[in-house]
Amino acid sequence: MKKMFALALAATLSTAAWSQAFPSKTVTLIVPFAAGGPTDLVARHLAEAMRGPLGNATIVVENAAGAGGTIGATRVARATPDGHTLLVWHIGMAATASLYRNLQFKALEDFEYLGIINDVPMVVVGAPRLPATTYRDLENHIRANAGRLNLAHAGLGSASHLCGLMWQSAMRLNQSITTIAYRGTGPAMNDLIGGQVDVMCDQTTNVMPQIEAGRIKAFAVTTASPLSTHPVLRHYPSLQEMGLTGFNLTVWHGLYAPKGTPTAVTKRLNDALQAALRNPEFIKRQEALGAVVARDRRITPAGHKAFVAGEITKLRSVIEAAGQFAD
Ligand code: ASP
Repeated sequence: MKKMFALALAATLSTAAWSQAFPSKTVTLIVPFAAGGPTDLVARHLAEAMRGPLGNATIVVENAAGAGGTIGATRVARATPDGHTLLVWHIGMAATASLYRNLQFKALEDFEYLGIINDVPMVVVGAPRLPATTYRDLENHIRANAGRLNLAHAGLGSASHLCGLMWQSAMRLNQSITTIAYRGTGPAMNDLIGGQVDVMCDQTTNVMPQIEAGRIKAFAVTTASPLSTHPVLRHYPSLQEMGLTGFNLTVWHGLYAPKGTPTAVTKRLNDALQAALRNPEFIKRQEALGAVVARDRRITPAGHKAFVAGEITKLRSVIEAAGQFAD
């Protein structure tokens, strides 16, 4: 009802009136994972960088975690389409379209696409108590301990879950690793450091500080080639180099508004996003964590949507090959 009223109002206000009026209150970025994880961090950096371009608006980050990100995404799909409630989500927008057969939203129909934010490689990491020191050791350890190890992830359809699926299928393990779902990889990281879980595959933005502090072990990166120019990550091979032919996974994050948000508002939000992506401080903070800030056509709404449509098709075959569904 609220949404219908807002849509009717949107139709009566002129473009100029909308852009002048927006934002008229706090802008909330919904992160569909727990605080302290990689998506949360991207959203917090972005909130700071978009504040100025949005006329010093107040931008807050709210965590609406659960079901691999689909709970937070559903909330934004159903929010009043006035630009004040936005979603920061990652590759899960494309992965969940195949993993869940009865989602409450449609990825390509229920959102206004505002632009891709960044690309972030993932790293296979492990608890400090694991006997393995190289990737080869880790694979041998996993094969020798079939059924005894566990892998943490952020829920079905999350990036860490997708990576775990792809990794296990590329290793051709006879017996799968037990998986443990968290509300985000922020809390999962605490358990990895504490040794309650054995392995995880997560974005560099979450694992880099822990690798540098020596709190966890790192084994391999998920990009096709090793990250040879990165000061920390160049020390680790790519999974592909380790014999997992064709393994190539990079997580991207994007910004979304509910479908029906007036064009003048989405334009203002895309301008603010693009300004943030050019902000040297934002770029520096992201790059320090191994993320690459988006600069290509995907930073436009049309480019973003076309890219996600392609990712949905690409991931569908990966997920179908793994024979996994969340429901
Ligand atoms: N990195 C997580 C994932 O695996 C989500 C998060 O906590 O940001 O999807």
